[in-house]
Amino acid sequence: MPSSSAAQSVVAHTSDAPVATSAAAALPVSRSDFDRYMVPCFAPAPFIPVRGEGSRVWDQAGRMYIDFASGVAVTSLGHCHPAMVKAIEAQARTLWHVSNWFTNEPALRLAKRLTDATFAERVFFCNSGAEANEAALKLARRYAHDRSGPHRMRVVSTLNAFHGRTLFTVTAGGQAKYASGFGPNPSGFTHLPYNDVAALEAEFASHGAEICAVILEPMQGEGGMTPGTPEYLQAARRLCTAHGALLILDEIQSGMGRTGALFSYMQKGIVPDILTSAKGLGGGFPIGAMLTTSDVASAFSVGVHGTTYGGNPLACAVAGAVFDVINTTEVLDGVKARHALFMEGLRAINGRRRVFRDLRGEGVWIGCELDSTWRGKAMDVMTAAGDAGLIVLVAGPDVVRLAPSLVISLDEILEGLARLETALNHALQ
Ligand code: PLP
Repeated sequence: MPSSSAAQSVVAHTSDAPVATSAAAALPVSRSDFDRYMVPCFAPAPFIPVRGEGSRVWDQAGRMYIDFASGVAVTSLGHCHPAMVKAIEAQARTLWHVSNWFTNEPALRLAKRLTDATFAERVFFCNSGAEANEAALKLARRYAHDRSGPHRMRVVSTLNAFHGRTLFTVTAGGQAKYASGFGPNPSGFTHLPYNDVAALEAEFASHGAEICAVILEPMQGEGGMTPGTPEYLQAARRLCTAHGALLILDEIQSGMGRTGALFSYMQKGIVPDILTSAKGLGGGFPIGAMLTTSDVASAFSVGVHGTTYGGNPLACAVAGAVFDVINTTEVLDGVKARHALFMEGLRAINGRRRVFRDLRGEGVWIGCELDSTWRGKAMDVMTAAGDAGLIVLVAGPDVVRLAPSLVISLDEILEGLARLETALNHALQ
């Protein structure tokens, strides 16, 4: 039998009585605790963000930073967007979790919206980008296995690609530094140079009957902000169709409005067989999704693939609110207008002092490649940006990457660009 005080605490948790704040919430912590307690696979900035509002973030000392990074292209509506706060508060009072022995309303509502708005007829929810790609690669192999036999298992990927950190997805990725030392890695991958139509044609000419899928980012983000040319993306589509392979588009970074369309494929004149989404989909709440057709989805019958948390009601309620804000002409056209403002400001900086050799990208997803004098200095710019009160990203050693909120204000763009110029002047001397 529980003691009477234990029984009372059970009653308190299930009643409307106020709940005391957890003591853990008041435990003092500092940046040095990261080095002491955390697995050292990151090297975070010297400051700790503690609060965010729109495109502004404050650290423990109360210092304000303009956010040109959105996590890494995650908080697409900025921090604590009222529509997201409302959705999570309402769902937090309603239902947090059910197992996959049940479905739930927020997941079904989100699946309906995603399929209505895209080529897809079916959705699989998970918790991250890597899991969405893992599901996509497994699905492509299973589909080919069931229809053509086990010999059709080759996956064509690209050098410099980034698809996540599971063993399957680091192997699909095209950067040896992320995949080495974990072997044996899954086999059956070919990595070709990105944007090389001839290499893709040659690969299909020699191994077409063994290829189950081509996996591509419409623009390589982590690999240096390299846009896929329309000819290349269309050749990939054509070759996959001709040889019975599936085209997987990794839109984990490019999707959910970042390029000014709901998904980037909509601007490229191609339609994938499988599309993966995460990051901006949840606007800061972890969620991933794999979208596909009914035919391809049929290769995953009951029990063949799964996840405990995928399709979690809290995640799907938040993602539904994010989707409703982003999938509007106002927001998507606003992304294109913001692109123009960013490019104008960046060109003006470059006009005053030549620091960039190339400015590229789409929507609010911009790569600033440093001039040859400053090769390898992108990280220094990122650090100097922090000192100047600005959060930016890098994409490799030579490219400063900007991925602000889709709804960042004009004032914040101008203030952030001024801070970026300060940072460039400090870092590049
Ligand atoms: N694919 C792309 C294109 C990405 O940019 C990323 C993350 O940066 C991923 C996959 C992996 O996503 P996650 O870190 O949520 O697993």
